[in-house]
Amino acid sequence: MHIRNGLIAGLAALAVGLASARAQERLEIFDAHLHYNQEPTPFYSLDQVREVFRRNGITGIVATSRPNKGTHELMAAKWSELKVVPFIRPYRVRADIQTWFNDPTTLELIKSEYERGYYRGIGEFHIYGKAAESDWVKKMVDFAVERNLYLHAHCDEEALLILFRHNPKARIIWAHTGFSVGPARVAELLEQRKDALWGELSYRGGITGSNGKLTAEWRALFEQHSDRFLLGSDTWINERWFGYDTIFKEYRGWLAQLPAEQARRIANGNALRLFGPRPGE
Ligand SMILES: [Zn+2]
Repeated sequence: MHIRNGLIAGLAALAVGLASARAQERLEIFDAHLHYNQEPTPFYSLDQVREVFRRNGITGIVATSRPNKGTHELMAAKWSELKVVPFIRPYRVRADIQTWFNDPTTLELIKSEYERGYYRGIGEFHIYGKAAESDWVKKMVDFAVERNLYLHAHCDEEALLILFRHNPKARIIWAHTGFSVGPARVAELLEQRKDALWGELSYRGGITGSNGKLTAEWRALFEQHSDRFLLGSDTWINERWFGYDTIFKEYRGWLAQLPAEQARRIANGNALRLFGPRPGE
């Protein structure tokens, strides 16, 4: 009898141990679409931002902000638990979203920011349809290619193809993966642009149904292309900072429905591969 009780107690202890081991194995997440905007002050202080990242298991970010001061602050913070990958935001104020692609001062802004020496990309920028054909957009794409910078483009499919036409060597992270472009077309674009196109999934529709379950289309897309997707919070307004926990709870909800290898790639493996040291570093 005593032996049996001891065995049950032992098994119970083992179960508790396994549960906590599983909790410790919580997926690390890289937030590849983060804005730490300052207009004129940020929603959260740096200390609060750090706590939000800790709470959500965020161990890496693509840092951008409008103006770029927020990115400078995140870089200067040097938190040991967080990898910060800074991108140049080509905007000073919100209204630049409408005009930057025809504004010669945009390139000046990009060039002067680039002098800081630590940037890995340009974006997020917004561009739709034929507006992408402007000379200033081409100059920016060429600037990025010459310096091995990624472009983080919030654009429709037409503009995406124009960006690649400007310079076939462009490497583009497609913000929101086209929002609603059909999964079959997304797959086609990814296949045509190997090592040049990745999909970032904030605000992307259709991944799960109303019950929170992965849809068949997206399950199939991840099965084929789990090496091409990134997660993002897109904290473009204060409400997104306020809802940060919910955003990542939802991501974790569908990541848990994928095979572990696929989930790990999308959660942070792809970002670590993309933003690892540059050749020569
Ligand atoms: Zn966007």
